[in-house]
Amino acid sequence: MTIVDIIKGLKNKHFSCYELIKFLLTKIKQTNKHLNCFITIDYKKALKQANKCDFLRKFNQTNELYGVPIAVKDLFCTKGLKTTCGSKMLKNFIPTYNSTLIEKIQHAGLINIGKTNMDEFAMGSYNEHSFFGRVKNPWNFNLVSGGSSGGSASAISACLIPASLGTDTGGSIRLPSSFCGITGLKTSYGFLSRYGIISYSSSLDQAGPMAHTVKDCAILLNIISGCDKFDSTNINFKTDNYLKYINKSIKGKKIGLPIEYFKNLTSNVSCITQEAIRVFSKLGIKFIDISLPYIDSAISAYYIIASAEAASNLSKYDGIKYGYYKINPKTIEELYVNTRTNGFGKEVKTRILLGTYFLNKSNLFIKAKKIRKLIYNNFIKLFKTVDCIILPTNNYIAKQTQKKNNLNIQEDIYTISVNLAGLPAINIPIGFVKNCPIGLQIITPHFTEHLLLNIAHCYQKHTHWHLNYPNSL
Ligand code: GLN
Repeated sequence: MTIVDIIKGLKNKHFSCYELIKFLLTKIKQTNKHLNCFITIDYKKALKQANKCDFLRKFNQTNELYGVPIAVKDLFCTKGLKTTCGSKMLKNFIPTYNSTLIEKIQHAGLINIGKTNMDEFAMGSYNEHSFFGRVKNPWNFNLVSGGSSGGSASAISACLIPASLGTDTGGSIRLPSSFCGITGLKTSYGFLSRYGIISYSSSLDQAGPMAHTVKDCAILLNIISGCDKFDSTNINFKTDNYLKYINKSIKGKKIGLPIEYFKNLTSNVSCITQEAIRVFSKLGIKFIDISLPYIDSAISAYYIIASAEAASNLSKYDGIKYGYYKINPKTIEELYVNTRTNGFGKEVKTRILLGTYFLNKSNLFIKAKKIRKLIYNNFIKLFKTVDCIILPTNNYIAKQTQKKNNLNIQEDIYTISVNLAGLPAINIPIGFVKNCPIGLQIITPHFTEHLLLNIAHCYQKHTHWHLNYPNSL
């Protein structure tokens, strides 16, 4: 069920909130052993809250979202509930406060069922780097779910939860959404509060909703947007009703097709993308060829900036302030070394080493920032002639889980420029290759989430790809 279905079901008393949550928790218990999409499941509290919601609903003392279940990526701090960030370093970390977005969903009455699996510290594209094991793809257990928000994407796709919150530093909402066949929105940098989200790369990280449909993402955005004084990068916007915009006509809008990204597409992805383009043209959209020339340098710039910021952000895991603690170390150095050697996984250590190197070779970091600025300027220029840009989210279907994909960074090429420029982008499902979902990415100018949702929703009104569910479960 989508969030919209659940709201209707609860309102028309087709099921109680307790029945719904109990049903989902049972299903999660059975399914999680196959998919490994949850790290922590909050059985007791979820059922207690469900009872409370049913009680309040009897007296009409609720808004319509009261009792709607959700789960969040395990890097949102949740007061009293383990928050591991997919790492051994934080495997016993219980935050003493809620991140702002958790406060907002709780305030709206949603029930957080648990914390979803992810690549350690959000570093990865396939969800193979979690201390808690890989996440599998419900469409085919031999395939990866995509990362780093793979637990969320897998759980939604398997219908264990209707929606989730993820984060996207270089594609981590969009890529798993594409591999698992769901809708995932990365918002503009500064649009949502990052307060209480465990940082990977602070100038790139941004949160966003993941769900079956664009409409559900709009419902979640209504709740989680709005200014937060605890995050100085959070832009001071008034909250808006994003549902207001989604049905507007998109006739006459101009879509840019970046030639560089369409040149080397695999034939399967190319066919499916062309079909999606045909749907848009039937809706009265005009297409213009555009150029995003910094495609190769974008990868280098992204990995230099992201690793450098990660090396700095992760220095706090020293065994004193945070992190894995070795009892009775003889020296302070022994404490640091043991904590960081045992607490971090291989991928995270690689990034810390790379980042430390890049920060020491300061000309590399400065060059990367210059490339970032060029990418940003190019987007700003392009958006003077087009309303939005579309490109595939990825060029290949999800990979086999058995293969180790060490730092296979080339495939991030489709998603990272958006983060370097701080733009909003959404993944929507547009078809299948060998029973494996494929997604399309839509990008719009900064802080035009309403337009992005509008264009994506119009596509979903005329297609059914977002309504397919895997039958493996
Ligand atoms: N794959 C990219 C990386 O490993 C992006 C990850 C993300 O968006 N969190 O850095």
